[in-house]
Amino acid sequence: MQYQLKYGRRLLKFEVIQSPRKTLQIEVYPDQRIRVKAPNGIQPEEVARRVQRKGRWIVRQLDYFQQFEPRTPPRKYIGGETHLYLGRQYRLKILQAGECSVKLVRGYFRISVNGSPTPQITQSLLDQWYTEKAQIKFTEAFERCWPKFERMGLNKPMLVIKRMKTRWGSLSENGRLTLNIDLIRAPAACIDYVVTHELCHLQHHNHSPAFYTLLEKSMPDWKKRKHRLELSLI
Ligand SMILES: [Zn+2]
Repeated sequence: MQYQLKYGRRLLKFEVIQSPRKTLQIEVYPDQRIRVKAPNGIQPEEVARRVQRKGRWIVRQLDYFQQFEPRTPPRKYIGGETHLYLGRQYRLKILQAGECSVKLVRGYFRISVNGSPTPQITQSLLDQWYTEKAQIKFTEAFERCWPKFERMGLNKPMLVIKRMKTRWGSLSENGRLTLNIDLIRAPAACIDYVVTHELCHLQHHNHSPAFYTLLEKSMPDWKKRKHRLELSLI
């Protein structure tokens, strides 16, 4: 069942799942969903009261996840527009040529198009280029960050790269570390931060104090990197 209630100026929408359990548990997910696991037969007013009481914590979790949301400004894929790669801006220079290619030349993305260039063609060439670079750079980041976790006797997850709407990275229970392809626009230090954050989830599946202790130990300057990632308009 879907419910909603007002908490301050926020409207909290949540789903209630009843089962034969004794306690009530509230969970907030990265995609902003709120789920309440409640004992069978609980009164809706009781659920509302409990959600209200945990409101501050729920809002904090929602805001926490929100900050990971990529904020990609709309792109036109025309000459002169700037695009990021590893935290640096490069201007697009679009040329007509015998064959299609993308090259980074002295501060420019030189995009050669076979035929007359259109924003669609430019976008697909650039996306393809980003995909190839993400494969290489994310694998390097993963290998840089992994040794600390290997020493803890953890199983190495499989690296998956794809486009994600709401997150920079995730770690699934079956051992897949997924990175958002758009992260290739961020500085390498920020990519390492996201990888390390997700690898810490191998040990702690939530954002508990123990999780942060491990993150702090694995990457003492993680806050600086996270801040930098949030500031970069990717
Ligand atoms: Zn996390």
